Amino acid sequence: MPSANHVESYYAASANAFSVQPALQESVNADVCVVGGGFTGLSAALNLAERGFSVVLLEAERIGWGASGRNGGHIGTEYNPGIDRIEQWVGRANAQLLWDLSEEAKDIIRQRVTKHSIDCDLRWGYLHAAEKRRHLADMDETLETWRRYGYRAELKVVRGAEVRAYCNSPAYVGGLVDGGAGWLHPLNYCLGLAATAQAAGVKLFEGTRVTRIEEGSKVTLDTDNGAAVTAPFVVMACNAYLGDLIPKLRRRIMPVGTYIGATRPLPKALAEDCLPTNATVADHNFVLNYFQRSGDDRMLFGGGVSYTTLMPPNLPGVMRRKMVKVFPQLRDETFEYVWGGYVGITVERTPHLGRTGQQKNIYFAQGYSGQGVALTGIAGKVIAEAIAGQAERFDAFGKLPHSLFPGGKWLRAPVLALAMTWYRLRDLLP
Ligand SMILES: Cc1cc2nc3c(=O)[nH]c(=O)nc-3n(C[C@H](O)[C@H](O)[C@H](O)COP(=O)(O)OP(=O)(O)OC[C@H]3O[C@@H](n4cnc5c(N)ncnc54)[C@H](O)[C@@H]3O)c2cc1C
Repeated sequence: MPSANHVESYYAASANAFSVQPALQESVNADVCVVGGGFTGLSAALNLAERGFSVVLLEAERIGWGASGRNGGHIGTEYNPGIDRIEQWVGRANAQLLWDLSEEAKDIIRQRVTKHSIDCDLRWGYLHAAEKRRHLADMDETLETWRRYGYRAELKVVRGAEVRAYCNSPAYVGGLVDGGAGWLHPLNYCLGLAATAQAAGVKLFEGTRVTRIEEGSKVTLDTDNGAAVTAPFVVMACNAYLGDLIPKLRRRIMPVGTYIGATRPLPKALAEDCLPTNATVADHNFVLNYFQRSGDDRMLFGGGVSYTTLMPPNLPGVMRRKMVKVFPQLRDETFEYVWGGYVGITVERTPHLGRTGQQKNIYFAQGYSGQGVALTGIAGKVIAEAIAGQAERFDAFGKLPHSLFPGGKWLRAPVLALAMTWYRLRDLLP
C-alpha cells in the first residue's frame, strides 16, 4: 500500500485535492512503462500519451512523494556547473543546444500551468544573492555569458544597498537579478501534471514498487504486489530514490539530503519587509541557502545538507538560526513545518540522461543536481521524442560527462562528505 500521506510539510498541508490512485492488481501490457511518479516520470508519461503511446506509470508511494513534492520550488536558469563549463566539455554548438533546451524547460512550465490551469502559485523574478565581493565578480561574468547565449529575460547585477530592494538582509553585498527564473508550489505542480497525464490517458498506479526488471525486446517489470507490466520501452524516473533497482545508474548519482522550514503566514508588512518584490532567492555558496515567500506569505527557508540517511540533530534549531542570520527581522518566528528530501547529484553536476538494458530500450533521466524543477520537464519531453524516433535533442544530453562517484558502494558517501567539507570551507573564505 502507498504511504497514507506525503511527508508532513507545508506543501502536503496545502496540497490541492488529488485522489489516491489504485495499486496495480493485474499484469498488463503497455507501449511504455514509466517507473516513478515525480516530475520526470509525469513529464515523460504526459508527452508520450500526447504522442499516442499507451502508458502505465508505477509509483512506489504516492504521486509527488519523492523530491518533486518536497523541493524548494525554485525554477532556475541553465545547469548547475554553468554553461561556460559545459561549453568546455561539449563545444560551443552543443552547449548552445543545451542552453536552448534549458530555456525551453522554463517555457514548458509556463505553458503547462496556463494550458491545464494548474493552481501552483507560479511566479517569476529571482535574485542570486552575493555574500562576498568575489561572488559579484562571478555574477558579472555569468551575465556576460548568459547574454552571449541569447538570454532575453531581465538581467542585471545590483551592488550595495540596491540589493535590499529585492532582499532586505544585511547578509548580502549585491546580487544578480534574473527576471526569467521563478518559483512554484512543487507538490501542486506535480499533482496538476498527474491530473493532466491521467486525462491524456496515462494509467497511474500508486503503492506499486518495481522490484525486478527483466531486460529484453519486451521488458518485464515485477512489482511488490505480484502483478507485472510488460512493455517494449521503459522510462526510469526514480532519481535519488532509485535504491538498488539498477546498480549501474545508482553509481552515477548520490542522494544528498537538504531541508526546508516554513514559518506561519507572516503579517503582510513583515513578509514585504523581508522580500519586497516577492523575489525567489538563493545565495551563491556551494552549500547554499534558498528561500522565498509562499503563496500565503510564509517564509520557506531551505538549506543544509547531509550525506547520510539520518536527519541532522536539532534540524529546526539549525534551520532557524540560518534564517535569522539572513533575516534578523524574523527573530521571533519559529517553523510550523520542517522537512527534507534527497537531491540526486552527479559528479560533474550535469543531468544524466541515457538508455540502458540489452536492447537499449530502458530510458532514464536523473541527477539534475538541484536544477530539476525546470530540467525534469525537458527531460521527459526529449525522452518521449527519442522513443518516438527523434533522438537528436535527447542525445545532446548524452554528450555531457558523467563520472562514477569514487569510493564504491560503502565509501562514496564519506568521500563526498569530505569533498563537500572542503567546498564548505571555501564558502567561508572572504
Ligand atoms: C528539499 C529539496 C529541495 C530542492 N529544491 C530544489 C529547487 O528549489 N529547485 C530545483 O530545481 N530542484 C530542487 N530540488 C531537486 C528536485 O526536487 C528534483 O530534481 C526533482 O524533483 C526530481 O524529480 P524526479 O521526478 O526525477 O524524482 P522524484 O520526484 O524524487 O521522484 C522519484 C519517484 O520514484 C519513486 N520510486 C523510487 N523507486 C521506485 C520503484 N522501485 N518503483 C516505483 N517507484 C519508485 C519514488 O517513490 C519517487 O516518488 C530539491 C530537492 C529537495 C529534496
